[in-house]
Order: sequence, then structure tokens, then C-alpha cells
Amino acid sequence: MTNATAAIAEGGRDFIRDIVQSDLDSKKHATVVTRFPPEPNGYLHIGHAKSICLNFGIAEEFGGRCHLRFDDTNPAKEEQEYIDAIERDVRWLGFDWGKHLYHASDYFDRLYEWAELLIKAGKAYVDDQTPEEMRINRGTLTEPGKNSPFRDRSLDENLDLFRRMKAGEFGNGARVLRAKIDMTSGNINLRDPTLYRIVKAPHPRTGTKWSIYPSYDFAHGQSDAIEGITHSICTLEFEDHRPLYDWFLDNLPVPSKPHQYEMARLNLTYTVLSKRVLTTLVRDGHVKGWDDPRMPTLAGLRRRGVPPGALRDFIKRIGVAKANSIVDAGMLDFSIREALNKTALRRMAVLRPLKIVIENYPEGQSEELEAVNHPDDPAAGSRKIKFGRELYIEQDDFMENPPKKFFRLSPGAEVRFRYAYFITCREAVKNDKGEVVELRCTYDPATRGGNAPDGRKVKATIHWVSAADSKPAEVRIYNPLFSKPDPTGGEGFTKDLSPNSLEVLADARVERVLAEPSNTAEPVQFERQGYFVRDPDSTPDRPVFNRTVGLRDTFAKEVGKG
Ligand code: ATP
Ligand code: MG
Repeated sequence: MTNATAAIAEGGRDFIRDIVQSDLDSKKHATVVTRFPPEPNGYLHIGHAKSICLNFGIAEEFGGRCHLRFDDTNPAKEEQEYIDAIERDVRWLGFDWGKHLYHASDYFDRLYEWAELLIKAGKAYVDDQTPEEMRINRGTLTEPGKNSPFRDRSLDENLDLFRRMKAGEFGNGARVLRAKIDMTSGNINLRDPTLYRIVKAPHPRTGTKWSIYPSYDFAHGQSDAIEGITHSICTLEFEDHRPLYDWFLDNLPVPSKPHQYEMARLNLTYTVLSKRVLTTLVRDGHVKGWDDPRMPTLAGLRRRGVPPGALRDFIKRIGVAKANSIVDAGMLDFSIREALNKTALRRMAVLRPLKIVIENYPEGQSEELEAVNHPDDPAAGSRKIKFGRELYIEQDDFMENPPKKFFRLSPGAEVRFRYAYFITCREAVKNDKGEVVELRCTYDPATRGGNAPDGRKVKATIHWVSAADSKPAEVRIYNPLFSKPDPTGGEGFTKDLSPNSLEVLADARVERVLAEPSNTAEPVQFERQGYFVRDPDSTPDRPVFNRTVGLRDTFAKEVGKG
């Protein structure tokens, strides 16, 4: 985290913003144009949020613009569902591309013409080698590659074959178009990279028009050039692609010369940010869907109750660096807590109920007490909550034989019930198995509102709900999806999945207002528990709440439990 800390120390500036500033100062560019280029083959995750905040953020801060461009070059893996989800998630995060929505597929005609130009210039050829032969002849990091036997085809034969590839005459994978650069280059990306593949799959936008599709490398930089992108920001894995990015720009009649800059990708502890892994989690049912609140997707985080402002704050805090690092997932929780502490209304809910009977409170009677909605915001007002003879408290707020430092309820102990009275525990009632199932208590009527006129103090205040006036609810507690701080992102990642990522508390009780949907569109704080939001699985009789985050940084502890 030293790099990120440095970025913050510089007042939110980073090396990319410094470059943009200096390019504008030197009039190299009149205005800055960035882009966010997702491939619509999955939902966006929090790593993408870093790229979105950076690209759209720079455009906003420097008075330029940011394009949303779908890198839709592989119809075999891309779907309309993903396109829609990506647009929804970028908007939700708080960014707007205005009229600047583009697709690599918008440029398929021009890219095709440019491919023909390369062939005519003797800089591209059709290769009939099998994928396996191509792989072997590509060489390794330590060994140079070998020229393809098809490398010296005549221009006419190349043009004819490429046009027939386009016309759909050959099967998937039968041939590819490659750039003719240098099979002995120290940079493997320059060893005659593939420009076009045969993929016979309908495309969400171009239908069945094309049987061949450009590679990422052939589409990306040229799309940037067509759109007049000034600063093309990607992650460090693409650093070695930059010479190829520049080779295309130097060898094609492109309308502008963008520059590629690389930054560190976001990695988070206990999290895997790989679309391939996330797709498998969804496909194989390890989670309930792309928007499962355990997923690091923007849809999952939204469903968990994370406000978009908290994500933007988190991204700002981690900064932009040139070296890869792993960010502590506790930092994300910190930003979420910071945001929700300011806005979330306070409510009372009991997650694991234990029944209380107030023996000296008259049967059939009840009264209304005043509870504040937000301790730091008087404008949030207050609400009435019902108190009566039967209540529920949290099971772990009682101990029959408490250790020295336990100040909550135990036989003979007196505590404050929040917004209500001082209450003393007289007796614990047990079932046949010896488990405590009910507490018999008394209250002091003189302590209404939670203060004793004689000045006596209690050491604890606990939350509670009325048995008669509260509503049953299901509460879902989410723990990290992976049990290791650095889970495997590749083969066999399922062995690092935590068996305890979801805890369902089926018998929770919540105060009445929480059962009214109109009151819980926004996350709330369950006092002493954390921040929660109503889940779409709720029914009219039974609300379901997701825990967005706990109140304290229990990250290490929660993980330890798994
Ligand atoms: P894949 O290439 O495996 O499909 P990807 O995560 O690179 O996955 P893209 O849709 O190509 O997916 O990503 C869109 C943009 O988001 C790219 O510019 C990419 O650099 C950026 N991006 C992706 N993952 C991260 C990450 N973890 N941190 C920062 N930026 C990221
Ligand atoms: Mg990618």
C-alpha cells in the first residue's frame, strides 16, 4: 500500500494525471479524451471500477470526455445481457458517457480495409498452420520463433484467401491473418501476431455479416485512433503489447496517434477479480448469480447495499500506481462504513432472539417511546417504538456465568434497554436440554427514557425489540467468498472457496418500520450490529436483509472463523 499512500499524499494526483496535466500544459493535446473499453463477456467487478473512476474521473477533472466503448470482437463469448449490465453499472457508479457510446464493431469495415492495406504492403499474410503448430513455432521467452511455411505467400494469394475467409468459405480456426513483423523478436507480441480469426457466430450488433473477427490487439489501438483518444489507459499486463499497439499506428493511415499508458490492476485480499473465475462461480452455482452479494461485481456490491459513493471513495484512497500490490479488503469496508455512517438511519433489530418477560410490567399494556433516527443529524427526526411486557434481545447479550469484563445481562445485573428503561435480570428459564430460552426480568419505571433520577449508572446499553410489535425477518450475513487472503485465481480455485461465506439467520426480529418497504430502500444501521439493506427476495410478510458491512473492522476475525 505504500504506492497508494504516496498517491494520496500528493493530494489525489498520480502519474497518469500528471502526464495529462503536462500534455495539456504543453498544448500537445487541446483536450483530453479517454475511454473505458469493457469486453461484454461478463459483469463488471470492482477492478473495472478502478478503471472507470480513472478514465471518467480524468475526463471530468480536466474538462475532456470519456467514451464507453464495447470491445465486442469475440461473439462466441459476448452477450446482450452483459452489454446491458455494463451500461447499468457504469451509470450506477455515477458516470455518464453522454453521446459517446461506441463499439469496436462500429469499426469492423474500416479495420477490414486496413487489414487489406497491410496485406498489399506485404505486412500481413494468411497462415494455414494449425493453432498447435502456431503455438510451437511461436517460440518461448528464451527461444526465438520460427517462420511459418506460409509466410512468403504472394500478395495476390494472401488477398484472395483473406477475402474468402471473410466470405465464410473456411471453417472456424482453419486459417488466420497475421502481421508479418519478426518471429525472432524478444517481444513475443511482435512474433507475427494474429490480426483476424474465423469465428462463425452471430454477433449481437453485426449479426451474421462477418465470419472473421479482429483480435484485441488489432482492434484496440485502431479504435482508440479512430475516436481520437489521447490517453489510452490499461493495466500492466499490456505493457509488452505497447510496441505492437504503436506498430499498427505507425503502419496504418490512422487519423490520430493515441498513447497507451499502463497502471497497476486492482487486487483485493480474499477476492478473485478474474472474469473467467467469476463466470465459473455463476455457471457452476457456487453463488446465486452475478449479483450475489458475495460477488465482487458492481451488481453484487449494489445488492449488498454498498453506495456508489463509497466505491468511488475507496478507489480514490487506493490511488493509481505503476507497481502491482494487493489492497486489504478491510479498506473497502472502511469506505463503506464511512459513507453509511453519515446517511444510514438507525433502527433496532434482533438477529438471534432471546425472549424477555418483564414481570412487573402489566400484562396487555404497552407504551410508545421516542427513538432518534440519526444521532448526528437532528433533521432525520425520531420515531415511536413500542415497549411492552415481552421483548426480544440478542442471545449473546446474556451470559449465565459472565466473565469479569462482561457488563451486559446476567442474573442480577442491571442494564439499559436503549430508549427505554433500566432492566434487571432475575432468572434464566431453561428447557429440558439446559438451554436458556427465556429471561425473567424487572424494570424500574422511574428510568423511562434510559436515565435514573437517583444518578445510578449502568455499564451497558443493549438493543431490543417488542415481541408483539416486531416483525419476523431473514438476515443474511456475508463473509468473504474465499478463505485465503491470496486465493488461487487459476485452475482449482474452488478449493479456496470458503464454506462460511453465507450465514442465514432465519428467525430475526425487526422493529415494525423495517417491514415497510418504503422505509428501507436505502441501507439502515441496525444498532450495535452493522449496516443492512433490504434484499429483493423480500416478501410482504417477511423482509430479507443483507448485511452490507459490520460496524467495526472485524475483517480478520470473521475470516478467522472460516
Ligand atoms: P478479460 O481480459 O479477462 O476478459 P478484463 O478484466 O481485462 O478481463 P475487460 O472487459 O477487458 O476485462 O476490462 C475493461 C477494462 O478494465 C480494461 O481497460 C482493463 O484494463 C480494466 N480492468 C480490468 N480488470 C482490472 C483491475 N483488476 N484493475 C484495474 N483495471 C482493470
Ligand atoms: Mg481485457
